[in-house]
Amino acid sequence: ESTTVQELSLKMHKGPAELIKKLLSMGVMVTINQEIDTDTALILAEEYGYEVEIKLPVDLEAQLMQEPEEDSALLQTRPCVVTVMGHVDHGKTSLLDAIRETNVTATEAGGITQHIGAYQVEHNGKKITFVDTPGHEAFTAMRARGAQVTDIAILVVAADDGVMPQTIEAINHSKDAKVPIIVAINKIDKPGANPDRVKQELTEHGLVAEEWGGDTICVNVSAIKREGLTDLLEMILLVAEVSELKANQNRPARGTVIEAELDKARGPVANVLVQNGSLNIGDTIIAGAALGRVRAMMDDKGRRIKKAGPSTPVEVIGFSDVPLAGDIFMAVEDEKLARTIVARRQTKKREEELKTTTRVSLEDLFKHIQEGQIKELGIIVKADVQGSVEALRQALERLNTGEVKVNIIHGGVGAISETDIMFASASNAIIIGFNVRPDVNARKAAESEKVDVRLYRVIYDAIEDVKAAMSGLLDPEY
Ligand code: GDP
Repeated sequence: ESTTVQELSLKMHKGPAELIKKLLSMGVMVTINQEIDTDTALILAEEYGYEVEIKLPVDLEAQLMQEPEEDSALLQTRPCVVTVMGHVDHGKTSLLDAIRETNVTATEAGGITQHIGAYQVEHNGKKITFVDTPGHEAFTAMRARGAQVTDIAILVVAADDGVMPQTIEAINHSKDAKVPIIVAINKIDKPGANPDRVKQELTEHGLVAEEWGGDTICVNVSAIKREGLTDLLEMILLVAEVSELKANQNRPARGTVIEAELDKARGPVANVLVQNGSLNIGDTIIAGAALGRVRAMMDDKGRRIKKAGPSTPVEVIGFSDVPLAGDIFMAVEDEKLARTIVARRQTKKREEELKTTTRVSLEDLFKHIQEGQIKELGIIVKADVQGSVEALRQALERLNTGEVKVNIIHGGVGAISETDIMFASASNAIIIGFNVRPDVNARKAAESEKVDVRLYRVIYDAIEDVKAAMSGLLDPEY
């Protein structure tokens, strides 16, 4: 533990020059930003009659996990990271393929396209990183693990089909994650294409097109005919510029595992996205409870690379175990520390598997409210018809109290799906089903993610339960 003259000066309300002079008289020569050890600081504080409280050493892991405070002078613009979302068959995969194929620069043309979970293209000299697992399932699963990789969401809506259930889900996911949305109205080559109808439908979900006085950028594209792609890239760069995305490429890397698997020949292979710093061959890395040392790296064009900077997707070989998608990874300079942390995480993981994790549920909601742990109750509403979704939404939102706000983060028609569970898990929300049930996968997921799913046949009962839970009057379930 150490401190600087500057910090001491602030704490002791004494000018730094005076402190430096005092230290000099004690035979310690320092400058204002120089670290001084605890003992010296103690003696100095006592000289001025301060009582000193010695803090316990901070948890090294907590310190490591914390996003470092960056000196703004060291930050440089980094490429934006884009995720494509939207309803099934609206053209997410086609769009990702079209962008990739039409934007391979001459120098890269010889390279073999590799699937490493994300790829980078260049437009007007600027790079854009696309996560190439389309759909919000991946997005949500990652968020459930605390990872936030997306800077911009591209919402693909087929011009001949319009806004569909998964379109709405994607909008809600993006809003919940506070990620800006650009709408790509796809399949405009089709005879039945009606972009205006899409825009009209989007307004019902809070996305008003720019040309209609709103602030949502909409671009007409055809993934098949390769039309509008340049416009789309331009808009992405525009939004990225406004977002002022920065990173420091000269620090140890940190980022997120996008995918990982056990390769028979190569051992654990992880596709990671570097989000800050640079990852180098030889770096000691940790991701979740997996430890490793980077033996080899490959980029999305199949080239072996030695260094990967911010927003670069890269395939990493050298992990001892397979990490999980959504795990935060980081390079750790102190290998001993890395080993200690991973060992501790493995123990913790085993412990956690044994005991149930704390999740919000109606059962213990009141306790959490009282303890000040919960200020907002997130709810996902699923019902058999849209009318019931709306009725529930309105009635539930009316239950807001001074202590806790009810927030309907998503409402939809149909059975409770695995995606709903992952969404609830990511947002620490509960699920209320009205005249619907969870499917098999959802039931399994709810169990493993410990998501509270409540099923009702009477709207009044649902409202009463939530109301009772908020005021601590819910009867325990038997
Ligand atoms: P995803 O499920 O959202 O990934 O959708 P896909 O990319 O798999 O596309 C679904 C279908 O729509 C495929 O048959 C595509 O060929 C077709 N499709 C995608 N984009 C376009 C387009 O711009 N125009 C037309 N006419 N068809 C498209």
